[in-house]
Amino acid sequence: MQASYISYHLDLKHPFAIAKFSRTSTPLLLLRLRYEQAEGYGEASMVPYMGESYESATAFLAKVDWSCLTYPFNFPEIIAYLDSLAAGHPAIKAAIDIALNDLNGKLQQKPCYQIYEADLQKMPVTAYTIGIDSPEVIREKVADAAGFKVLKVKLGRDNDKELISTVRSLTNLPLYVDANQGWDNRKKAIDMIYWLHDQGVVLIEQPMNKADTEGNAWLTGRSPIPILADEAVQRLADLEQIKGAYHGINIKLMKSAGMYEAHQMILKARSYGMKILIGCMSETSCASLAAAALAPLCDWADLDGPWLTRNNPFTAPELQQGKYQLKDLPGLGLEGIKVDLFDS
Ligand code: MG
Repeated sequence: MQASYISYHLDLKHPFAIAKFSRTSTPLLLLRLRYEQAEGYGEASMVPYMGESYESATAFLAKVDWSCLTYPFNFPEIIAYLDSLAAGHPAIKAAIDIALNDLNGKLQQKPCYQIYEADLQKMPVTAYTIGIDSPEVIREKVADAAGFKVLKVKLGRDNDKELISTVRSLTNLPLYVDANQGWDNRKKAIDMIYWLHDQGVVLIEQPMNKADTEGNAWLTGRSPIPILADEAVQRLADLEQIKGAYHGINIKLMKSAGMYEAHQMILKARSYGMKILIGCMSETSCASLAAAALAPLCDWADLDGPWLTRNNPFTAPELQQGKYQLKDLPGLGLEGIKVDLFDS
């Protein structure tokens, strides 16, 4: 196994504001693994508040003994091996896992979605995210969302109703809401949830602080729409802790350390009777296609990374009726890889 990687800055179309942070670009590490004649591609998207960086990612890669990763890939052993090198670092672990999944599909001549037994007939529509912004910019963003059948609105500041009213003056599409832990009073939060329900909001992510399991559970017990954990759940082991406190979870490959563990989380969440949203960070087509391969196993998808950025280095995924159209190509189905990308 031969590994090459580069640093890449993914520029956002609009500075992205959520309840607690704002930024204009996201540092990535793009990874290529070569095994025999095949090449697999992976991506680590390292939004600063998650604590990883290009430097921490390359330091992690330096610890990997690539000769340990032999085909056929034993994913449970590989993930345990990566975890044994260092705790944390889920994004760079995801890059390795995604590249191995791409390679696995190419070596088997099968699309990743087929390997995970995801039925493309069950592909959910993907949401387009509207970050916190002025009414003028929100107008632009809603216009950018043409082609999407559901919007996700970031709330959690003091102008939540105003934001929703602005969006509602422009579109009747169903809405997902992400409060990003921005609400701190459960009584106010439940009143807001009922108001949002009347506004055509169909789910709410992480209403209160991730540490306030009791507060989030209180809302879950009363909410007319599903309440999902995002910040409160990263990897498989976290699921046990929040079981019963939320109706469902938001799985992201950059939190779960990749596709293998995300799939395990899907199976576990189902066994708990929980709903599943599969989401993303700011990502290129690479990690987005990896998540899309698992999306038919989930209830909802929020895989808009390639549309929120300006310089996706790969061919953009295809959407029809707001749904990813995955091709019958081996691996992730990633296209448009420039030959000199890893020499720059
Ligand atoms: Mg979220």
